[in-house]
Amino acid sequence: MMGPRQVAQGALFYEFSIEDHVPGDHLLRRIDRFVDLSGIRSLLAPFYSATGRPSIDPELMIRMLIVGYSCGIRSERQLCEEVHLNLAYRWFCRLDLADAVPDHSTFSKNRHGRFRDSDLFRRLFEDVLARCIVEGLVGGDHFGVDASLIKADASRYTKVEAAEWSVPDKVTRATQEYLQTLDDAAFGGATPVQPKTLSPSDPAARFTGANGDRAFFAYSTNYLVDLKNAVIVDVEATAPIRQAEAGAAKVMIRRTRDRFDLYPELLAADTAYGSADMLGWLVEDEGIEPHIPVFDKSERKDGAFPATDFAYDHSADQYTCPGGKPLKPYWRDISTGRPEYGKDGFKRYYARKQDCAACPLKPRCAPNQPTRKIARSKHEGARQMARDIAQTDAYVASSYARKKVEMLFAHLKRILRLDRLRLRGPNGAKDEFHLAAMVQNLRKLAKLVPAPA
Ligand code: SF4
Repeated sequence: MMGPRQVAQGALFYEFSIEDHVPGDHLLRRIDRFVDLSGIRSLLAPFYSATGRPSIDPELMIRMLIVGYSCGIRSERQLCEEVHLNLAYRWFCRLDLADAVPDHSTFSKNRHGRFRDSDLFRRLFEDVLARCIVEGLVGGDHFGVDASLIKADASRYTKVEAAEWSVPDKVTRATQEYLQTLDDAAFGGATPVQPKTLSPSDPAARFTGANGDRAFFAYSTNYLVDLKNAVIVDVEATAPIRQAEAGAAKVMIRRTRDRFDLYPELLAADTAYGSADMLGWLVEDEGIEPHIPVFDKSERKDGAFPATDFAYDHSADQYTCPGGKPLKPYWRDISTGRPEYGKDGFKRYYARKQDCAACPLKPRCAPNQPTRKIARSKHEGARQMARDIAQTDAYVASSYARKKVEMLFAHLKRILRLDRLRLRGPNGAKDEFHLAAMVQNLRKLAKLVPAPA
């Protein structure tokens, strides 16, 4: 039997509770158990004026931002529309049916102003991490570190030659931040090599073709991850440069130790973190096992004997080559003192010219040079330790566990849709990365901590 025609009729009174209409297993309901914003009003209080009209509730704005970042809503304008229409979003933001949603322009003012000045997003990220620790999700002994490129809000078609660019009369916020971070090891000071091109809309972003695709302007998001449950224990924004990313790893390891008393036993990472300096710092300064492939520029591609075929004698400070001849730093007394190690931190050992000239192994040892030389890093002990670890089963296990960091980046880009930034400048990248990492940890808590019966 056909039912009666449905015609919308406005009732005089409604009995309606949003609470009843949000499913028990909705993502935001599961996340809500772990969102504690009780401290933000006191944190932000000094950044509000004592006079004037009352502001929009900062807790409401943070809750809306959490909705946006957890549900992949990247536009603030769209976020306001979605919160207006979606009951679950309203419930999470503590808005009743008749409550007004703030205008999208409010976000811009607060995000670039008091939220940034008070370092609110860092504080929120750390609060959620503290909750992960309390819930037992963080093992604290096995860490992984990696970085991923995120496109900046800067078009490749507007790029200019760096040598031709000058500070415009009207300095934007992004340009101001670029000028302030010129000497910052995470951005402009990461490498002495100056960029050839830059974007006038976001000069701190670097033009990179590292993905093997068309080059684009980008920042790097750096994650330090506890490998037990892939909880992000620290996050840092840098330029997409290897030296900056290795520097960020050091900053994050130290900060995690200072703030949360977490001392990792091992660090798993890829070759980008396998430089002699980084391995030396990990082993000699921090006592952390490097489960990292050694970054070795001395590897031969011409089929000649590798450096590992040369035996090092500590007491004599010399190598012995496969032909049984010694390689030394100097073959005659140098009266003027020279630095033991070069600027790159390596010491060179040379075979004697007459030994190589008479050697039957020369075509396989020094095919294109009159004599063979071996470079030894001042952190060779740490490098050798990393090579030895690479032969163990524990290394295979940590290399496998390291994939969890890459999965977090895949989740960040595909599910949270953070493959391109919306905010410009180093601070914009920092804010977005902190919010995204916080939301990823919240989702982890919601997934792994069972709800009370
Ligand atoms: S070429 Fe020189 S360094 Fe190489 S094995 Fe012969 S003597 Fe030794």
